[in-house]
Amino acid sequence: VGWWDHVAPAAKDPINGVTEAFLADPSPFKINLGVGAYRDDKGRPVVLQCVREAEAKIAGSEFLESISASVSTKMVEESVKLVYGKDSDVVKEGRSAGVQALSGTGACRLFAEFQRRFHPESHIYFPDPTWSNHHNIWRDAQIPERTYHYYDPDSKSLDFAALMDDIKNAPDSSFFLFHPSAHNPTGVDPTEEQWREISYQFKVKGHFPFFDMAYQGFASGDLDKDAQAIRIFLEDEHLIGCAQSYAKSMGLYGHRVGCLSILCVDSKQAAAIRSQIQQIARAMYGSPPVHGILLVETILSDPNLKSLWIDEVKIMADRIQRKRTTLRQNLEKLGSSLNWEHITNQLGMFCFSGLTPYQVDRLAKEFHIYMTQDGRISMAGVTTGNVNYLANAIHEVTR
Ligand code: PLP
Repeated sequence: VGWWDHVAPAAKDPINGVTEAFLADPSPFKINLGVGAYRDDKGRPVVLQCVREAEAKIAGSEFLESISASVSTKMVEESVKLVYGKDSDVVKEGRSAGVQALSGTGACRLFAEFQRRFHPESHIYFPDPTWSNHHNIWRDAQIPERTYHYYDPDSKSLDFAALMDDIKNAPDSSFFLFHPSAHNPTGVDPTEEQWREISYQFKVKGHFPFFDMAYQGFASGDLDKDAQAIRIFLEDEHLIGCAQSYAKSMGLYGHRVGCLSILCVDSKQAAAIRSQIQQIARAMYGSPPVHGILLVETILSDPNLKSLWIDEVKIMADRIQRKRTTLRQNLEKLGSSLNWEHITNQLGMFCFSGLTPYQVDRLAKEFHIYMTQDGRISMAGVTTGNVNYLANAIHEVTR
């Protein structure tokens, strides 16, 4: 009695709140543009063909013990190749300390904990805005956060000058989190030239870059191109941290497969860092579930399955890109006096529409269209069947 009387309900997660409101709405016209999960053009969740084939290959697998460091080596090695390139020296030299993680969230959480242990006085700089869970993850690891300028609401694009000022004005040797491609929630990424400038300034300041790569392939349809930012930092000889998630890129959402890797000066340092991260994971959750890891390992190490996967990533990215074009064209055809260029300029899963909280509320109440309060549209929820209805509704609330 009395033990938990002081426990009040936690604040609602902004994205889960949208899903709840959507599920409770009985309208046949309702559209969920909240959650960032890929859907096909009929609005259905997708299991990739490469995953189905990998499932068949691992069916009846005899080995279901928890994964030890040695068993997971393949999956981690292949993941690191996706980050740095398949022929990168990083892999050959064993300079990367990688571990499997519980999807992208778990990889970020492991890194935040690692940062607290070995740089307890440090901060983390997030882009403003960023994925809402970044705040929770680093807060729970007791790392204070700061933000750097990123999105400019007026131009609906990158505020590059302000971003560079913040990098220059941050104390030397600060930790910064970047989204290497398909920034969530804005869909706005720096250009190649801008990444080069950022990387150069990081050298000058001695900052540490941590890349949270949750959408590799979703910006351009090409896995290497979407890792370009990290490759630029690699060329400039930075040490780099990277969280990878297979939730979106392989559609493995609920399997929770990801990888945390930290680039080191040599293989000896990598071994030390790997053992520390493994120890952190061991105390938090022991080891990750093996099924998803076997799937990823199977796909990445079988050339046929891997090339099938690469094709399927492109199909997903292209479908989203086409829906951006259609949504923009429809708004323009309706005679909207507003500029909707940003819908097609932005990249990846999300469109930061510029809709106000009031307009977002009207879309939900009058049109049964649900998205987060910041006006972020998950483009994966837009289909041939609903894009006209959506464009009409947006036009109505923005006239
Ligand atoms: N990082 C970013 C920027 C994301 O948008 C997400 C998912 O929405 C994640 C990480 C983590 O996703 P998961 O833990 O499902 O891999």
